[in-house]
Amino acid sequence: MTTIKLHNTKTRQKEVFAPLDQDDVRMYVCGPTVYDRAHLGNARPVVVFDVLYRLLRHVYGAEHVTYVRNFTDVDDKINARAAESGRAIGEITAETTQWFLDDMAELGALPPDHMPRATQYIPQMVAMIEGLIAKGHAYEAEGHVLFAVDSWREGYGKLSGRSVDDMIAGARVEVAPYKRNPMDFVLWKPSDAGQPGWESPWGRGRPGWHIECSAMSYELLGESFDIHGGGNDLMFPHHENEIAQSCCAHPEGEFARYWLHNEMLQVEGKKMSKSLGNFFTVRDLLDQGVPGEVIRFVFLSTHYRKPMDWTAEKAEQAEFRLLEYNRIISDYADAELANEKKVSMPILEALSDDLNTHLALSRLHELALDAKNAGSSDNGAMALQLAHDLKFLGIWNEHFGKTPRSFWIDKTAELTIDQQALIATMLRKRVDAKKSRNFVRADQIRDLLTSAGVVVSDTPQGPEWDVGPDFDPAKLEALK
Ligand code: AMP
Ligand code: ZN
Repeated sequence: MTTIKLHNTKTRQKEVFAPLDQDDVRMYVCGPTVYDRAHLGNARPVVVFDVLYRLLRHVYGAEHVTYVRNFTDVDDKINARAAESGRAIGEITAETTQWFLDDMAELGALPPDHMPRATQYIPQMVAMIEGLIAKGHAYEAEGHVLFAVDSWREGYGKLSGRSVDDMIAGARVEVAPYKRNPMDFVLWKPSDAGQPGWESPWGRGRPGWHIECSAMSYELLGESFDIHGGGNDLMFPHHENEIAQSCCAHPEGEFARYWLHNEMLQVEGKKMSKSLGNFFTVRDLLDQGVPGEVIRFVFLSTHYRKPMDWTAEKAEQAEFRLLEYNRIISDYADAELANEKKVSMPILEALSDDLNTHLALSRLHELALDAKNAGSSDNGAMALQLAHDLKFLGIWNEHFGKTPRSFWIDKTAELTIDQQALIATMLRKRVDAKKSRNFVRADQIRDLLTSAGVVVSDTPQGPEWDVGPDFDPAKLEALK
């Protein structure tokens, strides 16, 4: 059996992964709060843990893996969205949940086995909170129930590597007067008539965010399970609080054994933010015609524990690579691709080494070049292998490249992949120049391309290019 190694945040080490039960490998990943379209950063954990899910299914068998990813459908951000739009909460959460599922499916993410919604598990949350109060780990104050971090000083802060005292010193939280310790966090809070609420022993109210994941993971995966994932922005306080609640409510278990955290996504070197104008959703990109496979390919090109930078240039390069792979496959293989099992060893090994997707993509590229250049009867087999690997990585789509968009139309067959990428990069620079009203620069770029025999025309869909009769590859290469 393939050995999987994973970096465990809990021990800060790469460890050999040994599940509690090989017949039921269990993973929980924190899902989205549903009040708006997922932004590009939200898609990163989805893709990262989808790769892990596929790997686990491959190694242990699809029927021996249980993957749970929740929807947070009770949250003050949702209430605020309902208030400002005048729409019902249920309508907003149902709509955005479906958006999320549709968008993630376009990125090749398999649906998890369970996708619990927080509002379906309120009685279980209430029961867990009652248990925590009974054991002295939580207390009621002014209609709230709070977790008492002093009741579990030995464990609190271990995941993120901080002590309670350090946290208090560094905290800028507003300290509510009813808290015994400033780090105590909310398990339950009162709701007024206009807010969603459920009857409870502490009056009508709603759960805090952290208790949702503790209650749902316990219900669906038990008091001990194998893997817990999420973005590293969730490590503190969300994951720390999940651990405190779950370990105190169920001291017989160990809660999650391997903790995996993905690093954040940036855009063109900067933190994604609405004020910088570089904030966009997955759907924005799809609507611009960037195929989901391309988005996924770009994501996979950076290891999940490194910050990843989304750039238009990377998307272009990814698109050309995928287009090239598609061509190799359709040239040599009649893609009968139902079997996900047939991933090649070098790729499987790369993924098994703490999800080294970057290395997996390099190996995929080597295979593609071999398939293209071998010039022997092996090409067909190699091309078929390439198709299987693409499928395993979730970046296969037999329709890929069949719908022409801006600069990757079938005329590209005459040019090498590097030449096409160069043209695309120059066209993008021209678009940028125009955006910043630098028309002199934009014209210069077009003239340079014209001098190499590449004809550029502007259409309502964006720039198109074609190679004219005087196309000169050497002149084009000289523009690099
Ligand atoms: P939220 O809806 O903000 O709770 O985020 C949902 C998921 O997206 C969490 O797992 C976050 O860690 C993750 N996430 C949010 N922003 C980013 C980002 N810029 N890069 C990567 N992951 C992110
Ligand atoms: Zn969570």
